[in-house]
Amino acid sequence: MYTASEITDLLNLPMFESDELFKTANETKINTVGNIVFTRALIELSNSCIKDCFYCGIRMGNKLTKRYILSDKEISKTIDYTIKSGFKSIVIQSGENSSTEFILKVEDILKQIAQQSNNTIRVTLSMGEHSDDTYKKWQDAGAHRYLLRIETSNPKLYSQIHPHDDKHSFKQRIQCIESLKKLGYQTGSGVMIGIPGQSDEDLANDILFLKNLDIDMCGMGPFLEHEQTPLFNHATIPLLKRFEFSLKMIALLRLAMPDINIAASTALQSVVPNGREQGILSGANVIMPNITPLHYRELYKLYKNKPGINQNIEDSITALSENINAIGHSLSLDEWGDSLHYKKEKLHISHVKE
Ligand code: SAH
Repeated sequence: MYTASEITDLLNLPMFESDELFKTANETKINTVGNIVFTRALIELSNSCIKDCFYCGIRMGNKLTKRYILSDKEISKTIDYTIKSGFKSIVIQSGENSSTEFILKVEDILKQIAQQSNNTIRVTLSMGEHSDDTYKKWQDAGAHRYLLRIETSNPKLYSQIHPHDDKHSFKQRIQCIESLKKLGYQTGSGVMIGIPGQSDEDLANDILFLKNLDIDMCGMGPFLEHEQTPLFNHATIPLLKRFEFSLKMIALLRLAMPDINIAASTALQSVVPNGREQGILSGANVIMPNITPLHYRELYKLYKNKPGINQNIEDSITALSENINAIGHSLSLDEWGDSLHYKKEKLHISHVKE
């Protein structure tokens, strides 16, 4: 395992000297979790949010965004469509909403997915911080995995990009991640790369932090500006550098945690059209094609230049599959793609119990 200063050195290697890092990470992945790229059909449930994160386009304070939540009918159609398209894994992402109505709606959706698919689909939720009771309720209704990014492992930087109130507490976010783990969710976290004011040491510490947290999955990508947020025009690292750091962070995390699932984020694709494929070649093994009804995608806009806003799923899957084949991997729709790290841990726990 690299030390923080070794990671910092690797992050700063010029791109033309970084091939070895990407190659080793990709080989480590292939030897550990294989060359299959797992897909998760992504549904953006709602852009209503009670938070006011300074970087995010759907923050509560952004009065220019029209808010939506998918209706029961739209959800039912989307689930149907997901099953017919052959996906075995769904991610439902949303702005944060702690109302009872929302919590019950998510519970209903989970039950509906279980029923419509005969329990053949794995569901990941990504909807922010909630009480243990809510996480438990959703787990009982069929959620298997949860993604909650820490955004940065540096508490000081965290406080610079969030309002200072108890709705945006670094400690609380970590506690939620711990709760999810304790409940037995496959738990994911991750960070943004190139946040204004973020140093190389911060990024190196992020890798060590994620390793220490013992996550099962990771989603991370470049910080991208959104014109209707306070951090617009505050980037301190050029965009292509943020992209380069993102690929290196994927590679370094793969080397630190060979058996976890790592997503090649959509944010990578918004910087460079083949950004996700580059992410795969740097050690990622998951891609999340967007299946949100087309007219809502423009509204779930966390950052500018969000890709895939007008692309229907058939076209995007065909093209993606060809691109993934071209880089020596194969795209899988019909597998759960559980985290090997999580499966090993479960096995270990059941052995210890016996
Ligand atoms: N409400 C959920 C989901 C939030 S959106 C939650 O709190 O987890 C998912 C992720 O998008 C965030 O965790 C953040 O890492 C990322 N994101 C938001 N704004 C971004 C931006 N401007 N650039 C890059 N990533 C961003």
